[in-house]
Amino acid sequence: MTHIYILALGSNMRVPGMGAPRAVLSAAVRELEREGLRVLAVAPAIDSAAIGPSFRRYANSAVMVESELGPPGLLGLLQTIERRFGRTRAQRRGQRWRARALDLDIVLWSGGALVCRDLRIPHREMRKRDFVLGPAAEIARGWRDPETGFTLGQLHARLKRARWK
Ligand code: AMP
Repeated sequence: MTHIYILALGSNMRVPGMGAPRAVLSAAVRELEREGLRVLAVAPAIDSAAIGPSFRRYANSAVMVESELGPPGLLGLLQTIERRFGRTRAQRRGQRWRARALDLDIVLWSGGALVCRDLRIPHREMRKRDFVLGPAAEIARGWRDPETGFTLGQLHARLKRARWK
């Protein structure tokens, strides 16, 4: 049995040997493939303003992947890849909004909604984040959020409208 996921990718750090954040995202997609995930679609990378006290800009993207891994197994793999790209435990704990070599989140899963220990799908922040909804809607506009019933395209349009009010 295979699962399909939408993943959000973000980086706001240069990584030695890889380069600027956009290059880090491309390397991350190759790493996902190397780990056996089938990459079905990749959203064009966007630049977004940093959140929190970090001064660096983020590069963000989203991918649609297919895998035999269930959500906890995939989360474990994503965290292993984050560590490989140099996101240390210190960054996870004390410096939440500082520079991040790579952030990988599960946005949506073909199995619908899930809460399993500290893993939550849909990702709890996805409806508020333009830099998640924009790229995700590029590759899966019609995919419905199981909690609100809105498609990614609709959620993105609503967020943009709310911003202009
Ligand atoms: P972050 O600092 O945003 O990468 O958060 C990482 C933590 O969020 C991890 O401990 C995960 O278990 C938790 N988490 C909860 N839901 C998700 C999700 N949908 N995708 C990735 N991480 C998640």
